[in-house]
Amino acid sequence: MEALGKYSFGLGDRFGHQGNAQLKAIMAAYEKGIDITPVWNKSNREHITIGTQPSDVRTEADTVTRSAGFKRPYFVDADHINLENVDRFIGCSDFFTIDVASYIGKKANKDEINEFMIRAERYSGELNIAGPKLTLETSKSQIRQIAEKYLFAAKKAQEIYNKIEKAKGKDNFVTEVSMDEVAQPQTPLELFFILQMLATENIPLQTIAPKFSGRFNKGVEYVGDPILFAREFEQDLLVIGYAVREFDLPVNLKMSIHSGSDKFAIYPYIGSIIKKTAKGIHLKTAGTTWLEEVIGLAESGGEGLEFVKEIYCGSLKKIDELCAPYADVIDIKVSSLPSTYEVSKWNSQKFSDTLKHIPGNHDYNPSMRQLIHVAYKLAAIKMNEYYRLLETNEQVITKCVYENIYDRHICRLFGIR
Ligand SMILES: [Zn+2]
Repeated sequence: MEALGKYSFGLGDRFGHQGNAQLKAIMAAYEKGIDITPVWNKSNREHITIGTQPSDVRTEADTVTRSAGFKRPYFVDADHINLENVDRFIGCSDFFTIDVASYIGKKANKDEINEFMIRAERYSGELNIAGPKLTLETSKSQIRQIAEKYLFAAKKAQEIYNKIEKAKGKDNFVTEVSMDEVAQPQTPLELFFILQMLATENIPLQTIAPKFSGRFNKGVEYVGDPILFAREFEQDLLVIGYAVREFDLPVNLKMSIHSGSDKFAIYPYIGSIIKKTAKGIHLKTAGTTWLEEVIGLAESGGEGLEFVKEIYCGSLKKIDELCAPYADVIDIKVSSLPSTYEVSKWNSQKFSDTLKHIPGNHDYNPSMRQLIHVAYKLAAIKMNEYYRLLETNEQVITKCVYENIYDRHICRLFGIR
């Protein structure tokens, strides 16, 4: 298998039309000396909502890379999969995000916990992760609590991993374990013992996606203190480095941030910390390419603008249904949402400015942006018309998708000017 690079970017493309534009952003970064491995990710939830198959993502990734003459590695990520839905991803994916969030807090049995304690006890007391830079205090009872909270999830991760390994063969895919879609963040201390559990379960982990402090809502800015995030992130990196040596995890194990896209306030911190510490990163973005399609159609005017106005009006009517699957990762202020009547009078510029995430633009409305983000189902039920509009207005949309990934994400993260 080809190797996941030091830097990799998770790209979501719900409707499968923007792979070229996304790849162009990756290639533009390469021109600036930043080598990023593109990883196309799409969750089971998105496949079900739209009615696509995991193999569609493989076809898209293969097609766009071939036609662009892209010779470096790229991957197709089975995003947030579990034991129940992994099967249909196995053949066409070579990156698996094993999601064990729903198992956190369920207790493993007593013997399993005791067995883990025998290995973990020796880290009680003063845990010297990186000398003066990071020393953590812990006790046996605290370690036991961590085991009670996470060991069952680690064992489930192994079960899922084994299923994939059996079908694909060892070393033929990248393994990520994710725990981000939960309410409580994992502390650096918890991360350390989670990594010990995953190593004990023999999972050759290449990326790990914890839940950080603060909120990572879909498509909008980070909610929290960026300075506190930066401190936690740097401590997590030190923990990963120490755990790799201590537990013989793969040396290329790196942090995966499920950003939900658009975390502009913390990108510069992430960028400077990975640069300073010479660490890699996997930054997963959400399916916000869909939002760029909506923006592009709005900017195109005419029937494109009418179509996206209809989507918005429909989303107001079905707001509860659309938001339910995303309750943990959106924060919509209903009172900030413009009415159907108001929006009916908007021109292209007004619609686009309201939806486009340009900090400081006073028309920008994060609540409307989040609602549209989860409203893609409404385009999926008018698929033929939607695809026809995407194709007719391809040029405008491609530009929106490219600028979003390159200018707003990659440049901010890697400090490209
Ligand atoms: Zn996630």
